[in-house]
Amino acid sequence: SKDAGGGVFHAYEPKLHAEAEERRLLEMALRTALERGELHLAYQPVVDAGTGQLTGFEALLRWHSAEFGNVSPAKFIPLAEEARLIAPIGAWVVRTACAEAARWPGHVRVAVNVSPDQLQDAGFVTTVTQALATTGLPAERLELEVTESVFMHEGTGAVRVLERLLDLGVRLSLDDFGTGYSSLGYLSRTRFSSIKIDRSFVQAAAKGEREALAIIRAVVALARSLGMATTAEGVETQAEHRMVEELGCTKVQGYFFGRPLPVEEARALANRRIAH
Ligand code: C2E
Ligand code: CA
Ligand code: CA
Ligand code: CA
Repeated sequence: SKDAGGGVFHAYEPKLHAEAEERRLLEMALRTALERGELHLAYQPVVDAGTGQLTGFEALLRWHSAEFGNVSPAKFIPLAEEARLIAPIGAWVVRTACAEAARWPGHVRVAVNVSPDQLQDAGFVTTVTQALATTGLPAERLELEVTESVFMHEGTGAVRVLERLLDLGVRLSLDDFGTGYSSLGYLSRTRFSSIKIDRSFVQAAAKGEREALAIIRAVVALARSLGMATTAEGVETQAEHRMVEELGCTKVQGYFFGRPLPVEEARALANRRIAH
């Protein structure tokens, strides 16, 4: 450091350096993760809040690295975005999820997370079109989850890509609603099928925080008036299930109903007859 004074920054440098080095190594490993077969998808059940019936699964990316072991998506997805790896990885996710969902009964949907960066490229429309054609999955059984941040930079082309995806017949969900950008104008301009209420609101409301309860109520009312469903995320207990159901959420997802499952377990669950 050029800090000739007290040298107070010196103590931090080795740590910063180690972090940068770890990121560099992680990024290098991520570059070859796809071709080395280190990525796979886990499938978390989404159920109807009223009946408890399975309506679909959310596909969640997992990375088991030869060098680093299991790396959390919270860590490697942002890295993939920065390293411009999210497009090829995201395309693989779409193809893999569609191929798997084509083996489930017709009422079971698959939801796939899409990064804002993927929507900057019209090539993503081709990826989705080809995945549907190759697997034979009807478009309405594919749900794409996007976050509000997509609308932060208007005129970037993402909205046009979303329109083209809607034209294919796929559904859009608004993920992590309420955690980001706060303009609501885009809700009336882009046709979403559902809004996903972030786990942070569900948790806070379950603890009795009145603001969180008020927000969930308002989101449910807003979604209803726009003809959209609402999915409560991160429901971990029966009490939370009861609460979000009473608040009018139409779908629920969380550890209480099932953790993200290995592909074979999800397939077995999808094909199980519902006992009444
Ligand atoms: P997300 O889309 O909000 O996904 C929900 C996250 O909450 C998942 O974490 C899931 O495992 C976790 N979760 C579900 N139910 C519960 C619960 O009851 N309690 C708690 N504590 N957590 C619960 P995960 O799998 O670690 O994924 C983290 C994030 O990484 C996702 O958040 C999503 O933003 C991103 N992600 C995952 N897969 C993909 C992908 O294929 N593409 C992109 N672009 N992003 C992905
Ligand atoms: Ca999601
Ligand atoms: Ca979410
Ligand atoms: Ca989230």
